[in-house]
Amino acid sequence: MSAGPLHTLPEDIFRTVFEKSPGSLLVKADAPRFTILAASDTYLAVTATTRDAILGRGFSEVFPENATIDDNIKAQHIFKKVVETGRKIDIPSYRYDMFDPDTYTYEEHHWSCSNVPIIGTDGKIAYILNTVVDITKEVKAREEAIEIANRLRLANEATGLATWDLDLVDQTFEYSPRMAEIFGHNADEVLSLAAFRSQITADDMDNIIKPSFRQAILTGEYLYEVKITCPDTSVRWIKTQGVIIFDASHKPIRMLGTVLDITESKRDEIRKNDFIAMASHELKTPLTSLKAYIQLLEKKITKGGDPFINNALVKAGNQVNKMADLVYGFLDLSRLESGKLQVKIQPFDINELITEIITETLLVSYHHQIVFNPGKTIIINADRERIGQVVSNFLSNAIKYSPKESTITVSSGVFDNNVQVSVSDTGIGIRYKDQEKLFQRFYRVENENIKTISGFGIGLYLASEIIQRHKGKIWVESKEGQGSTFSFSLPL
Ligand code: ADP
Repeated sequence: MSAGPLHTLPEDIFRTVFEKSPGSLLVKADAPRFTILAASDTYLAVTATTRDAILGRGFSEVFPENATIDDNIKAQHIFKKVVETGRKIDIPSYRYDMFDPDTYTYEEHHWSCSNVPIIGTDGKIAYILNTVVDITKEVKAREEAIEIANRLRLANEATGLATWDLDLVDQTFEYSPRMAEIFGHNADEVLSLAAFRSQITADDMDNIIKPSFRQAILTGEYLYEVKITCPDTSVRWIKTQGVIIFDASHKPIRMLGTVLDITESKRDEIRKNDFIAMASHELKTPLTSLKAYIQLLEKKITKGGDPFINNALVKAGNQVNKMADLVYGFLDLSRLESGKLQVKIQPFDINELITEIITETLLVSYHHQIVFNPGKTIIINADRERIGQVVSNFLSNAIKYSPKESTITVSSGVFDNNVQVSVSDTGIGIRYKDQEKLFQRFYRVENENIKTISGFGIGLYLASEIIQRHKGKIWVESKEGQGSTFSFSLPL
């Protein structure tokens, strides 16, 4: 069974449909009066009027023009134009404030309207259908978004921060004009990501940017400091900070962040580093001769056999060694910060190296047992001296932070094509919240028990930098009061 023809529908149905439609008003094309013939419920609601109050009356009689509205978009004007041109006229957005009888004030409102001509039986325009939608909320939201963007821009300009946004899927790169300025270009210059990157050295790309990106994929946060060479050949330092956005399958799809010019503070840091480098270098020479004299004296005295002098010399020797370690630590730190810490890769047996370091350590610390569980012979390609330094740092920490006469266990082995070395102690252990910070520069755990233990918090920082330069990993497992295991692994 099919529905009957349209003309069999009761006439009232059209009126009902019209009255239920959103924001519609039908006026007669009898300019300049424009008599109101029908209005929908929503139209009456938004204009706060009733059907009885407006039907049969002229449009401007009922809706006097509002001062906030521009002449060109006044309803009278638009209606006239629709009649003249016979065309539909849309006004996508205009302001028409509504009178609130409760507060006796006008309330800001924004509207979007469409005016459609309707042809009568004589072929002339007989009516105009005026449809109005209240878009105040949308306009306010848009204004708010613009306001937020402006505030962000002002804050960025005030702090000198540049912002950038990289689409990792199609590699589109957007940046604020400040970014071009920081890189030594005109603010309005159009530059590609490759152009920005070309101002960073290949070494820094490999040693700073790529590892930071790898880290960011794991943590979601991107942070590095790097030097750039500007077109006028001057060198500047920048700090980039950002976040990675992942899709539902954890694929990185977008990165966004900021760039700050830190050249000034970096210069201060460089001056401080240069000072440390110079001071430690100057201290190195007298320390080396002091050490040599003590060794000479030790040799001579043992023959004479005065136990007090003998003992005093051994203690003096140990103190000189401690001082030398600190001085060498500072020297390494300044080399590292100025990018001059080089690694010399050569093949060597890691177990042999560990045995050597244990022997050296036992020469100066006789209150601990050190047990070594070597895996099978492992030849690795790395900087022998630097890896020895890492093992030595693990061992001296294990000694420093565990009770006398306790045992320290060193082990080596191969896991998943990586050589792994671990040093375990049964000492004071480290709280979980401190563990991830241990590898930061100058970080020392704040603890009453270890206040008296000397150190500057640079050993583990250097160790982690050395391991990173070998593309390895360094970590700690520990429980407070139960001991710690420090490990590193290097790819084979
Ligand atoms: P330093 O020992 O010279 O302060 P490190 O960088 O070698 O510097 O160590 C940083 C901090 O890590 C130490 O101050 C200490 O708080 C903690 N730490 C390192 N090794 C151990 C360990 N084996 N047991 C407990 N705490 C440790």
